[in-house]
Amino acid sequence: MATATLTIDLDAIAANWRALDRMTGAGVQTAAVVKADAYGLGVTRVARALAGAGARRFFVAAAEEGAAVRQALGPGPQIAVLSGHMSGDTEMIHDLDLTPMLNSLDQITRHLESLPGHPFGVQLDTGMNRLGVEMLEWQAVAPILVEAGPELLMSHLACADEPDHPLNEAQLRAFHEMTDGTGLPRSLAATGGILLGSRYHFDLTRPGVGLYGGRPYDAAIPVVTLSLPVIQTREVEPGESVGYGCAWVAERPSVIATVAAGYADGLPRTLSGKARLWDGDIPCPLVGRVSMDMITVDITDLPETPRELDIIGPNQGVDALADVAGTIGYELLTALGARYTRRYQERPA
Ligand SMILES: *Cc1c(COP(=O)(O)O)cnc(C)c1O
Repeated sequence: MATATLTIDLDAIAANWRALDRMTGAGVQTAAVVKADAYGLGVTRVARALAGAGARRFFVAAAEEGAAVRQALGPGPQIAVLSGHMSGDTEMIHDLDLTPMLNSLDQITRHLESLPGHPFGVQLDTGMNRLGVEMLEWQAVAPILVEAGPELLMSHLACADEPDHPLNEAQLRAFHEMTDGTGLPRSLAATGGILLGSRYHFDLTRPGVGLYGGRPYDAAIPVVTLSLPVIQTREVEPGESVGYGCAWVAERPSVIATVAAGYADGLPRTLSGKARLWDGDIPCPLVGRVSMDMITVDITDLPETPRELDIIGPNQGVDALADVAGTIGYELLTALGARYTRRYQERPA
């Protein structure tokens, strides 16, 4: 096979959800964020695994993404849309029973006029300045809106992965100021917020990356293995170069393996000359440049040619590889390519 295999451990995702759920009090519900095709891992299988673990509320970025989740889960579970109620989405929100998190006075007006009585939440801006109703607007509309019965008042932390960042406390204070006394269910914490402790938990948490094994949830069970098949090997003499731009030149007689996956598959070109791939527990340096469909690896020190090499696996997790690439685990996960054969591991129910 000439395409790489992305193995996704659904049991690990379920276990991570349960573990994050246990980190909050009994009265705190744990939702699951499955936007961007469940962070690149395939929303149909991932959402079902999370529902199996006990998740009853799911968050997506856009109404279109909600369609796939509704199809996967059927009626019942709540599917919340973080971008709110955009013009043109009314029919979808109604037909698929999505719950928009309204972000502005425009969205609030649109929702209440086009779908009176249809469930909604409100996203408040407590300092991230990205999405949400701002303090002054909120003070103006809160009396009417609280009356209309939002399912959730939520906000999002900008620096939750830095526990000592002063914006965390500032956003917490602003969130209290905007929501205390409403008596409505509240949510402030994503993965990072859960780790900040119970003052950040309120009634509902919204973990995403932690479910998929990523930072800042360091105790997560790894979810992803990415194995790249060796297409060809060749012997290279000292002084010969490998790949585009002659970026790597052999200093000793070397064996080079060409493996199938490149930047078109979401492996950043910034990994060129820096990353390592693994044959079991033996690291092999990536040599030369990452090209569109291929990577070259120095396997001189291996006893024999492997059938495949892991670029994400037990010895090098998503965040470790992201560090080498100069990016974050979120970006690496959501860039995982369409060409990979996706294999799901799940013990039979
Ligand atoms: C993406 C997102 C989340 C999930 O964040 P993680 O850091 O992946 O846990 C939660 N809430 C909002 C508003 C988001 O945009």
